[in-house]
Amino acid sequence: MIRESALTPDTAAYRKVVPAGNYWIHTVRKGQTFRILDLEGNQAADTLFYSAADPAERYSAVDTVRAQRNVYLTVGTKLMSTEGNPMLEITADTVGRHDTLGGACATESNTVRYALEKKTMHACRDSYLLAVTENEGFGLTKRDITHNINFFMNVPVTPDGGLTFEDGLSAPGKYVEMLALMDVIVLISNCPQLNNPCNGYNPTPIEVLVWDAAA
Ligand SMILES: [Zn+2]
Repeated sequence: MIRESALTPDTAAYRKVVPAGNYWIHTVRKGQTFRILDLEGNQAADTLFYSAADPAERYSAVDTVRAQRNVYLTVGTKLMSTEGNPMLEITADTVGRHDTLGGACATESNTVRYALEKKTMHACRDSYLLAVTENEGFGLTKRDITHNINFFMNVPVTPDGGLTFEDGLSAPGKYVEMLALMDVIVLISNCPQLNNPCNGYNPTPIEVLVWDAAA
C-alpha cells in the first residue's frame, strides 16, 4: 500500500547518508519515527532490528508474516519480535512492497546462486559482521546476525512457491517509514550485491532519517 508521510526532512532530528556497501547501526527510541530513503532508486537496504533493552529479543520474519498473514511488508505491517512483541509499525511507504523472505546476501549464497568465483565479492553478511565487531557497545555478536528485512527489494513468490529476485519497484526519492514501538537497535547493510537486479546492478547510497515523537 502506498501512503506518503506528513513528515518533512527539515524537521528530522537525525539524518545520515549511508554509501553503497556500508553499514549503519543506531538506536531508535520508542516514539521516534525512522525513515529509509532510496536516494537514487533500485537500492536494497538489508535491515535487522533488536530490542535495545535485550538484544536477544530481535526481529522475527516468521512471527511478522504469521501475525499479518501476508509475506510482503508495507503500511500497517507490525514488525514482530521473537518474543511476540511489536517492535515497529510501518506508517508510510511510497514503494508498496518489501521483502522479508529472501534473506541477506552472503558470500556463501553468492557461490550457490551465481558462481564459485563470486565467493570473494562483498556481501551484506560481511557488512553485518564488520558492524557488530566495530561496535561492541551494542552487545551484538556473530550469532545475532539472523533473518532480516530487505527494504525496497522485490522478491515475488511464484505460484509454485519459489522466490525470484526481480527488478526493484523503488525509484529515486522513494522511502519507507516506521514508528518505533520499543527502543530498537537498527542495523542496516546498504547492499553491495552486483549479481541480481536488487540494486539495478549499481549499488547506490541511502539516507536514514529519524524524527522525535510529536510533542
Ligand atoms: Zn546484500
